[in-house]
Amino acid sequence: MTSCPFGSHRVVTPAGALPQTAWRLDNTSELHPNEILCAVDVLNIDSASFKQIADACGHDERAIGDHIAATVRERGKQHNAVTGSGGMFVGRVTAIGSALAHRHDIFVGDRIASLVSLTLTPLVIDDVLNVDIATGRVWIRGTAILFESGLYARLPDDIPTDVALAILDVAGAPAQVRRLAQPGATVCVIGADGKSGLLSCAQAKERVGAAGRVIGIVPDAMTPGANLLRENDYVDALVVADAREALAVRAAVAGPMPGLADLVINCVNVPGTELASILCARDEGVVYFFSMCTSFTAAALGAEGAGKDVTMIIGNGYTKGHAATALQTLRDHPALLAFFTQRYAARPV
Ligand code: NAP
Repeated sequence: MTSCPFGSHRVVTPAGALPQTAWRLDNTSELHPNEILCAVDVLNIDSASFKQIADACGHDERAIGDHIAATVRERGKQHNAVTGSGGMFVGRVTAIGSALAHRHDIFVGDRIASLVSLTLTPLVIDDVLNVDIATGRVWIRGTAILFESGLYARLPDDIPTDVALAILDVAGAPAQVRRLAQPGATVCVIGADGKSGLLSCAQAKERVGAAGRVIGIVPDAMTPGANLLRENDYVDALVVADAREALAVRAAVAGPMPGLADLVINCVNVPGTELASILCARDEGVVYFFSMCTSFTAAALGAEGAGKDVTMIIGNGYTKGHAATALQTLRDHPALLAFFTQRYAARPV
């Protein structure tokens, strides 16, 4: 079969699908000329998916590992059937197909992070070594295939690998904030104390400048992330509210954000927060749904029902230059780098 740049030659079922929408992929290690084979060390399961799996497995590490291994055995990829989301991997390049041998940005032996979803990445898990419930990471022995169209980043020398892995997973968020937030604007970040939320707040603060405002919404004011936001002035105000309760959120932001937000960034890992996001945006404002729990129907019908003329953007995992922007955000903000290093680096395997 001809090798397709998007990897359709690896689709087992259903016929005609591309790898992301396929039910099952061929995950065998026999390399096509336009593929890259990697030995995988760590999976970073995306937050919405990991929370769903952890809840279903009673937060038991062994059960979570078994659940992920079973999914990969059944589907040839880590694709959560409930949330529809995946994550990404870190590994070492072990072979490059002959049709990609001309590439100058990747060599056998390089340590890389995949920048495409595990929902479309052929994966084999030989062994699950460790599961870290606090951060959603799973150390494995296994292999993965990157397609010709697949994105990857060589891991930087100046940032710990575990930190880079955590950051690169959500790289699309700070890069989009950089693109969408205008000087003088009011930006509201929902789920502000999580990974993507923290990076988004730091980026937003830079972009809006002294004339703008950044408002963070968190479920708990006393988390380490919330403290970091306050102590470093990454937000002008922190609102404590449950984003699933749209009216309560609207009431809570009325004081710090009377004119509502020009731009709302949704970074939560639970379902049911579309309407709160929409109600935080001013008329003709923009709502960027980075969350994998976002429902198109809830957002579309919710905005219509509330009579809100807002532009809603789906959080594309890829934005040009997103990996470099995410890593640079850490370099530019030593407090953020220290926070992520403390949280993600040097965890035992
Ligand atoms: P994270 O670090 O787990 O952060 C999630 C945040 O949501 C936390 O700050 C959490 O607060 C907050 N939160 C949870 N329930 C809430 C509620 N009811 N009200 C208000 N805030 C609430 O997650 P992440 O890694 O940044 O990822 C964020 C989202 O982006 C997830 O849905 C993830 O799956 C998705 N994602 C999207 C892409 C993409 O390409 N679009 C890529 C990767 C990930 P506490 O920590 O205080 O509970």
